[in-house]
Amino acid sequence: MGAREKIAFLNGLLEGLSPKGEAEKKIYAGILEALGALADEIDEHSEILDEQQEFMEDLSEYCEQLEEDMDRLEGDFGDLEEYPEDDQDGTFDSRECPECGHVFFFRPEASEEDGALQCPECGFVIQD
Ligand SMILES: [Zn+2]
Repeated sequence: MGAREKIAFLNGLLEGLSPKGEAEKKIYAGILEALGALADEIDEHSEILDEQQEFMEDLSEYCEQLEEDMDRLEGDFGDLEEYPEDDQDGTFDSRECPECGHVFFFRPEASEEDGALQCPECGFVIQD
């Protein structure tokens, strides 16, 4: 039985007693009024609690989403940092032209099948 049912039950009991004196009637009415006001306040508070819980759940969901976004961003930045290193260390080679002394970079996997390189400065063909 909830608080409101108990108050209603008490109301019925007091009516059944059919108080004779005016003072008694006033006291009973006052008690019921006070109990009713308490029940109203409790309802109001549980409503506020529900609202706050909903708000907290929204906030926590938002934080989780934010954390996911941060992780994804960090992952993206991590990938970006790796690319230049790969290019410098793995896929480019440097060569000095024996004809003009110009130093240039080339991709070993992109060179001709016979391994010949052409100097971009003077056009001299370097044979490996
Ligand atoms: Zn050259």
